[in-house]
Amino acid sequence: MRVIPDQIDFSGPIVIIGFGSIGKGALPLILRHIRASREKMVVISPDDSCRRLAELEGVRFEKLALRPDNYRNVLTPMIAGGFVVNLSIDVSSVALISLCRELDAMYIDTCIEPWAGGYVDAGIPLAQRTNYALREEVRKIRGDGPTAVVAHGANPGMVSHLFKRALVRLASDMGHTVAPTTREGWAHLAMQLGVKGMHIAERDTQWADVPKQADEFVNTWSIEGFLSEGLQPAELGWGTHERNVPPEASFHETGCKAAIYLTRPGAGTRVRSWTPKAGPIQGYLITHNESISIADYLTVEKDGEAVYRPTVHYAYHPCDDTILSLHELQGRNMRPQSRVRLMNDEIVDGMDELGVLLYGHARNAFWYGSQLTIHETRALAPYQNATGLQVTSAVVAGMIWAIENPRRGVVDADELDHDRILSIQDPYLGRLVGAYTDWTPLDNRGQGLFPEDIDLDDPWQFKNIIVR
Ligand code: NAD
Repeated sequence: MRVIPDQIDFSGPIVIIGFGSIGKGALPLILRHIRASREKMVVISPDDSCRRLAELEGVRFEKLALRPDNYRNVLTPMIAGGFVVNLSIDVSSVALISLCRELDAMYIDTCIEPWAGGYVDAGIPLAQRTNYALREEVRKIRGDGPTAVVAHGANPGMVSHLFKRALVRLASDMGHTVAPTTREGWAHLAMQLGVKGMHIAERDTQWADVPKQADEFVNTWSIEGFLSEGLQPAELGWGTHERNVPPEASFHETGCKAAIYLTRPGAGTRVRSWTPKAGPIQGYLITHNESISIADYLTVEKDGEAVYRPTVHYAYHPCDDTILSLHELQGRNMRPQSRVRLMNDEIVDGMDELGVLLYGHARNAFWYGSQLTIHETRALAPYQNATGLQVTSAVVAGMIWAIENPRRGVVDADELDHDRILSIQDPYLGRLVGAYTDWTPLDNRGQGLFPEDIDLDDPWQFKNIIVR
């Protein structure tokens, strides 16, 4: 397939922080889509094992780690009037966004990151280690300013555009022509369609001819990043249709109050879901920004009370070797393996199937998303696998949107123009598929073999979705 790039000019400096699985993959797409001077581009990362990839493109590489005590001095001479692309782990999004606003630079990241250790410091109360708390910190930075696109990868990010397409399609299949243009419009549409909830349902089937070894963690994207979020409390946007509060649930007392957290790690919490290729799956309820931002975005309030909100959460079935890695990790009571391997060149086959499953409405459930194979990926862009390309194409689409809308201040993915973003991303997403299913989380359950505490009146209660 030939991609005809959507190109845009940008005259300022571009500073890419982090050059791991996402940074390496994003650079060639940024160069393909954004016409900027390479002399004004720089990559910053403490790990320079891939320095050559940047330098071959004529992009300067600086080997260093940003920390609370040096980031201002390092970045201030580099970023004024430019674009900071934060694709690192362990560098605070709030610190970078604030500095960008002082220096009139635009900003994008794919995850709201704290400084190193913020996710797994047992001295920090559990509620403060949630993505809810991280998002609330970012939400405090409001008002006019250079555009800062927060948490715009595949998920969080692209899925916020996919759910809008899915809602329009669902409405059309139910006989309505709609095109909401405001947050309230989307929230009312979801309510009118009777959408009880949404899974970000992902099944990664990529596999390599190098099997996972003992004492090794294997994944298709950042292992450190995955372990950090997997060791945060499981979190979900909490829907108004829910009748049973999970016993380990905690509610937040301040902020948007759209989400709850469970007093257990996402890497040890499984949920039932469904994707078109895989069919029924059990995925991990890993905390993610989109679980909170989408639930918040789709809330309908009356007299200050939420009268409608969908339940929203991730249901992540990583690739098989990652499942084995997680199983080993759980056996070690979450003590990390001594070796890690990011799967890329050794991948033989498989796809990343990533989309949104809108459930609980008159047509039961509808999945809409990207089915992207490793082979399509390799034909489309270098240095990455299918998981990576769904993320890096969202990064470049978010950057183009920001350059077209340079003074929007801090924005969530849900606040971007979904048609514009997807028009840029579409060529990189493989097949975009919409599929209905009659599957529910009660499928093949309640047979009487073992006692089960299930809600037979409403299959789409979270109580039926979580695996006990
Ligand atoms: P990675 O572990 O492969 O790479 C991380 C990079 O950050 C490395 O180059 C590392 O050297 C660099 N880094 C570490 N500490 C640093 C510091 N103090 N200063 C500067 N650089 C530092 O991770 P990845 O897979 O490339 O993921 C990068 C980010 O993207 C993470 O935040 C991850 O959660 C996020 N991500 C988001 C999505 C999404 O869909 N939204 C998907 C995958 C990854």
